[in-house]
Amino acid sequence: MLDKPSNRVIVIGAGPVGLCLSLALAQQGIKVSLIEALSDDNFLEQVPRAGTNHPATLELFDRIGLYKLLEPRGIIAPLFHYWDRHENRLVAEFDHGHLKDDTPFPYVLQCERIKIVEEAMKLAKAHPDIDLRLSTDFTAFKQGADGVTATIVNPAGETEKLSGRYIVSGEGARSIIRKELGIDFEGFTYSDRTLNIEVAYDFRKHGYTERNYISDPDEWSNLFHWSGPPDRWRVHFPTRENETDEELRRPEVLQKKLQGFLPIGKEFEIVGCNIYTVHQRVATKFRSGRAILAGDSAHVNSPIGAMGMNSGVHDAFNLADKLIAIFRGEASDDALDRYERQRRHVAIKHTQADTIRNKRLLAEKDPAVRQKNHDELRRTAEDPKLARAFLLRSSLLDSIREADQIE
Ligand SMILES: Cc1cc2nc3c(=O)[nH]c(=O)nc-3n(C[C@H](O)[C@H](O)[C@H](O)COP(=O)(O)OP(=O)(O)OC[C@H]3O[C@@H](n4cnc5c(N)ncnc54)[C@H](O)[C@@H]3O)c2cc1C
Repeated sequence: MLDKPSNRVIVIGAGPVGLCLSLALAQQGIKVSLIEALSDDNFLEQVPRAGTNHPATLELFDRIGLYKLLEPRGIIAPLFHYWDRHENRLVAEFDHGHLKDDTPFPYVLQCERIKIVEEAMKLAKAHPDIDLRLSTDFTAFKQGADGVTATIVNPAGETEKLSGRYIVSGEGARSIIRKELGIDFEGFTYSDRTLNIEVAYDFRKHGYTERNYISDPDEWSNLFHWSGPPDRWRVHFPTRENETDEELRRPEVLQKKLQGFLPIGKEFEIVGCNIYTVHQRVATKFRSGRAILAGDSAHVNSPIGAMGMNSGVHDAFNLADKLIAIFRGEASDDALDRYERQRRHVAIKHTQADTIRNKRLLAEKDPAVRQKNHDELRRTAEDPKLARAFLLRSSLLDSIREADQIE
């Protein structure tokens, strides 16, 4: 392998995707420059986001030594529930134990994105082959036949040029690389946004488990448990079109939504909230020459089913394998087209299809359709064969197996 500064991968963004990719490459001897706009001072101040890690993702975290750091900070959750809020009853309980012969991790790990990036960042800082640039803004890039040049603004405010063999956008949904390449981000944006309320209250005493999807024709929700400190639960609600951010953040409005969901006869202790716009979009291309998109820069989706961060991490490992083979001279650049074929297929046929269907299921208004959906979920959860097939898909193991079949 050539050992000159330009023989490296430039990764933009130290989110879960950029960090996993950098670690997977560096651990195989490939040098990486990892560029992140946030600094040591504010890196851990990011708003709460994704946090459910599916079995397929846990297998990948394990590959880079991350799983063992995350497990003690998370909650092992073998079960998840579907509830009917309208009828106030449990519809179906799914048990990942059905996957015990399919994966060494027959459960999800409830562990928030912030803990994942914190632990992965420690590994990245300790790795001699990762040139980590915090407090550094990536602003533009150029590519030629032999390599790429990224323009960055360093912490002193000076503009620098950085050379590499490939550049990967782990920048998230607002990717500059995607825009510079003129790649369309096809899809749509929901008119309702998602309100996340973080609450210090143990919902298990009402029969809920660590992960719950709750259907309701008027106001569906998701309910997730995160380990502390402080130990807390996140409730997702859809916003209504006329509700402004200012209004939604008022403590009495948050309290009313929570009491409407579950009246507990006293005030909930609210520890935080955030509101975000939900898009369903996939980039028309994941690769153009030496520039490659991964994670939210390539696809975004609703959080119902916890597929955004998970499928982004899967992109990172798929791409790492292709780049490792290219750097070792075992594959040509064409391997990157296979990355695009495999991961665009998953983004469209799994992540988009399933998250759109999940939302429709929770928000369904027609009583007859709701009844039919619930009957089917119940039947599936109670039949071990059907339950396993359902869980193989929801845990994203199917999506990885299917992608492996794509040449
Ligand atoms: C507000 C919000 C709430 C969310 N909530 C949920 C949820 O509840 N459940 C769920 O499943 N998913 C949720 N998501 C989605 C989930 O967080 C993402 O799918 C996941 O984080 C994607 O990882 P990523 O590494 O691709 O990008 P990101 O996590 O967005 O990371 C991108 C990184 O790149 C850095 N960066 C960006 N531009 C530049 C630049 N020009 N120069 C240098 N650095 C740059 C950023 O600072 C950041 O660290 C949420 C997303 C948002 C925005």
